[in-house]
Amino acid sequence: ILDVGYLDDYLNGKKLEDIMVRDPLTGVFNRRKLEQLVTDDRINGHSGNISVVMLDIDLFKNVNDKYGHYVGDEVLSFLGRSLLDSVGDQGSVIRFGGEEFMIIFFDTDTAAAQRFMDTEREKIADSSDAAVHFTISAGIAAYGGEFSSCMKQADEALYQAKEHGRNRVCIYTK
Ligand code: GH3
Ligand code: MG
Ligand code: MG
Repeated sequence: ILDVGYLDDYLNGKKLEDIMVRDPLTGVFNRRKLEQLVTDDRINGHSGNISVVMLDIDLFKNVNDKYGHYVGDEVLSFLGRSLLDSVGDQGSVIRFGGEEFMIIFFDTDTAAAQRFMDTEREKIADSSDAAVHFTISAGIAAYGGEFSSCMKQADEALYQAKEHGRNRVCIYTK
């Protein structure tokens, strides 16, 4: 079943620009928007703390293998909505890859981002509203002027979270 809700939105007058920068399955921003965010003044010219989160569904391949791709898609959609709800205007949520999301938090240091992500992680792990039970892991890094290295550090922290047993949040340390 194809979800063409975004097409309805367009026909109902929602701006084409908004459709271009959103992932139709999850409703969060896509990579096109990430490019914009990274290059525009929102990040470059920001004076406060920026924290970047790389988030990945744990053992998601098992969900697809056990319940099928459609249920997998429902889980992705559920997670997207949950992240949008929780993050609100504190930051931007981006679908970075298949089952990987990035959150860019403005005016949030890594300690605050970790508190936020631990709450979100617990909410997901305790939820019975999703099509199937699942957990998430996340890595966090502080933006220090170069986005690509910050992304790499958040990814390294995510790797640590996976290594240490999944369903956890790690902050990047050198
Ligand atoms: P880990 O905890 O280490 O992240 O394990 P994993 O199984 O989540 O990681 P792996 O990279 O092996 O598998 C990711 C899976 O995500 C494989 C791919 O089929 C699935 N996937 C990626 N994009 C989509 C999508 O749009 N829909 C569905 N249903 N599955 C997707
Ligand atoms: Mg992955
Ligand atoms: Mg995964």
